Amino acid sequence: MAVREILLLGDPQLYEVNHEISPEDAAALQPVVEDLQDTLREAQVRLGRGRAIAAPQIGVFKRLICLSLDEPTVMINPRLTDLSVETFELWDDCLSFPNLLVRVRRHRSCVVSFWDLQGQTKRWTLQGDLAELIQHEHDHLDGILSVQRAVDLKSFSLANRQLRGVSDR
Ligand SMILES: [Zn+2]
Repeated sequence: MAVREILLLGDPQLYEVNHEISPEDAAALQPVVEDLQDTLREAQVRLGRGRAIAAPQIGVFKRLICLSLDEPTVMINPRLTDLSVETFELWDDCLSFPNLLVRVRRHRSCVVSFWDLQGQTKRWTLQGDLAELIQHEHDHLDGILSVQRAVDLKSFSLANRQLRGVSDR
């Protein structure tokens, strides 16, 4: 389909809470999913990273996530449950502010329930980097960016600084 423009930090639309997708609407999502996948692939080539994208990042204000894992995965109306008490900290990045890293705290594990494009209900238990990825993407659906989850006021770093190898993580 098409590579779409990714909304960037400062765009007030990124702070909107997004709409649940009805079963009837889910049948018509294929073009949006293709745009999300094309946009994610282009970003991966341009930036050398990016594992997932949420629909609101391309201006489609619905509860839909596309992931680029071993195989492309689509999550419709994902819901997080069983968030572990145990948390961990990491430097998080985002396609909506590709030059900025933010130190955040995420749950070590969680369960995500969602529909796939065929309307099947799925339930995955996730740990570590996949758990934090889903928490990041799920936040986009609620209009929350990782800058709002910064551990403290010193939890910001330009990505280039990290790439030069002067990380003090
Ligand atoms: Zn993001």
